[in-house]
Amino acid sequence: MSDEAEGIGSIPHAYYSREQPQTGVVLLPTQENHDPGEHPENVRRLPGVVQALQSSPEWDRLFVLAPRYARIEDALRSHTEGFVDAIEKACAQAPAWLDTDTRVSAGSFETCLLATGGVLSAVDAVAMEAYHQPDSLFTISRPPGHHSGSDRAMGFCLLNHASIAARYAQEVYGFERIAIVDWDVHHGNGTQEIHWDDPSVLFISLHQWPLYPGTGWHDEAGAGDGEGMTVNIPLPPGSGDPEYLQAVDQVVLPLVEDYRPQLLIVSAGQDGHAADPLADQLISLSGFQAMAARVTELARRLGIGMVLVHEGGYNTSTLPAIDRAILSGLGSFDVPLDDLFVPSPHLQPVDWPERLTAVIKSQRRYWSVLR
Ligand SMILES: [Zn+2]
Repeated sequence: MSDEAEGIGSIPHAYYSREQPQTGVVLLPTQENHDPGEHPENVRRLPGVVQALQSSPEWDRLFVLAPRYARIEDALRSHTEGFVDAIEKACAQAPAWLDTDTRVSAGSFETCLLATGGVLSAVDAVAMEAYHQPDSLFTISRPPGHHSGSDRAMGFCLLNHASIAARYAQEVYGFERIAIVDWDVHHGNGTQEIHWDDPSVLFISLHQWPLYPGTGWHDEAGAGDGEGMTVNIPLPPGSGDPEYLQAVDQVVLPLVEDYRPQLLIVSAGQDGHAADPLADQLISLSGFQAMAARVTELARRLGIGMVLVHEGGYNTSTLPAIDRAILSGLGSFDVPLDDLFVPSPHLQPVDWPERLTAVIKSQRRYWSVLR
């Protein structure tokens, strides 16, 4: 802990310096009103997660926050008015498709505003100076958001929650630097697009490549004032805990620490898990716990709050255990981590070392910490 963090009047996260970090969840009461029908991103994803959490031994130690609705003006910090209107109109004529993968029902717009608002509630809870303040919160919400750009829906996503939360924190709390770390297995192309030339948001995406949506090669690094503020770590198919943790340790943590953000947002998709049907990665429950623990440790060291957003994760059977593993990393407690879906031994994808070297080489010109 730094010296100034120890005195009265310093940053609350550091000042209260609990033995264990305090974490919790934001639960979305009406998630079933966004109903795309038979679809990977469906109403069955979350109830099992909530049920597992509520019957778990750790439930009593978690903060539980109810979401509020985001305002339209919150959405308009990241999206165009025409796009937000188009989502609302499509829902009025539902069922409707916003792109080839993204289907809305009559209640989708309202549900999405509540999901976004849940992330904003979480930002308030970790960013406000208050006595009883969690270190991190995980929003158990849907639809996901990280593929949505400023003026279009894409890949099951309507509003980009992580981006809207970053801009909200800047507007309300005057934060000048926000970091968004995206470990969803797909590239967070929408978040990248919105913040492409934005020096006030460091965006780091770890994703399988090649995979949908096809973007996110290591040479995509932002432009203009935001050049070097976009960091892409394209992991080969078959990557698991060792590769993801190596990327976190060698790229994510040093860059975020060097940037010194005032808030850390994590697009915490679970579709990199070994049993996810939409991708080919091999992250285990322990791997998710370890990633969550590492970003928690970093946020505590920086004395900042952290908000995690649900994003993708499409195996309804394994989602409850993955979310418990993530929360256990955020709160430093034990949960069952036996994972029958991860092959043993793990074989390193042949092109991983070259990929990691290429990422570091691409970013070295912007980040002296990588030299
Ligand atoms: Zn995904």
